[in-house]
Amino acid sequence: MVHMYQAFAFTSSVWTDFGEESTPIMAAAAAIASSSKGSLREDLTCAICCDLFREPVMLACMHHFCKPCISRYWRGTQGPVTCPQCRKEFSSKQFQTNYLVTAMVEKVRATTSDTYIKNLEKQLRETLESHRLKKEDFINSIRRDKDKIETIKKIGADLQTRVKGEFRALHQILQDEETCMLEQLKREQEEELEKVQHHLDAVELAVKGLEDNIRTLRQASATTENTVLSELPPLRPCVLVDTAPEFDINAFSNKYLAPLQYITWRKMFKSLKPGPSPLTFDTDTAHPSIHVSRDKTVAVECDAVVPYMDHSKRFLQCVNILAAQGFQSGRHYWEVEVGSKPKWDLGIASEAVDRHARIKLSPESGYWTLRLRNGNEYSAGTQPWTRLQPASSPQSLGVFLDCEERRVSFYNADDMSLLYSFTNGPRGKVFPFFSPCISGSSQRPQPIRLLHYPAVALSG
Ligand SMILES: [Zn+2]
Ligand SMILES: [Zn+2]
Repeated sequence: MVHMYQAFAFTSSVWTDFGEESTPIMAAAAAIASSSKGSLREDLTCAICCDLFREPVMLACMHHFCKPCISRYWRGTQGPVTCPQCRKEFSSKQFQTNYLVTAMVEKVRATTSDTYIKNLEKQLRETLESHRLKKEDFINSIRRDKDKIETIKKIGADLQTRVKGEFRALHQILQDEETCMLEQLKREQEEELEKVQHHLDAVELAVKGLEDNIRTLRQASATTENTVLSELPPLRPCVLVDTAPEFDINAFSNKYLAPLQYITWRKMFKSLKPGPSPLTFDTDTAHPSIHVSRDKTVAVECDAVVPYMDHSKRFLQCVNILAAQGFQSGRHYWEVEVGSKPKWDLGIASEAVDRHARIKLSPESGYWTLRLRNGNEYSAGTQPWTRLQPASSPQSLGVFLDCEERRVSFYNADDMSLLYSFTNGPRGKVFPFFSPCISGSSQRPQPIRLLHYPAVALSG
């Protein structure tokens, strides 16, 4: 109660300091705001009931009491009444409701109630827990990011090594070609030089012989002035010299004034690993409605059934065919021309696929394929299909099989843009797979052609 008194006594002394617009209420508020929460509760305690004000009212002496308390205190008193705190006398029972104090009391009551405190504690615990969890999440995220950074760095480094290796191999091919060609040039040059040198030596020897003979003859001629020459002095036999070797500039330089880069590139093409494999169709696997060209590089679906031998390798349900070349290790690449054929499937098939059943083409059933339907709907043969949106319609497709990495990739062989890559490739032996599909009755069936490059054909 002392605090209360002091607080309000203080307000009256600073009243004037707040200027004309100031009110006792503002002064009170300023004083209350400056007190700590504990003393604020004391400041808002009624001197009669010693509890927080209920309906606080202010007497003319500026002391506050609960309205029920002061009413009860004054009950039965006739005439003047006094303030229970400072004993100041008032002619009548007058007080004023102080709304600011009412609001402050409500606030203190609310913020000091058990429910409020419990609620606050609960909120505190919950906020703490949520912060803790959030921090844990972030820490996990940091760890994942760091792991990713490590992975990216590692994979980047591996790929760098790989790319360097591929280029080193190309450089090596070029280096070997250069060395080989320069050695050949050197050898040919030496041969030409040797031929001429040989002739030169012979001619020089002949000249020397002739010079000796000339000297002998001159001496003999000088002697004849004093004596009679009875016979010719003995002479060295004349050295016979072969005709000068012909140096054919054209023959010597033709080989080296050729389109060297192209010739070397063609040679290099043969050394590519993997370079395009010259595949052929395995007619034993061909569905009876597939006609294969004599050189086994063209397959076309036909209406009439081609006479065929029973063979366990033959596809009997689906219009499929395999290449004769199977792969189970290393890296292989081949190209297939589909032209503007509106419908086809191609890729690879496990050796073990069931040739007599109608099977959905997917890695699960032993097929890694790309397909075209209706002339422009490209899909990867996953389950379900993965639709692809190539930038242009490939006329030729490249298939890359990496047995060690278990990767099967499809390229638009016209520009070598990647169309799709299976990373869950096959284990064990596989064969290049093709399906010319059944064309609509209105369309003339178009073939699938295995591409062989001249440079590849040059090999061997
Ligand atoms: Zn009271
Ligand atoms: Zn008073």
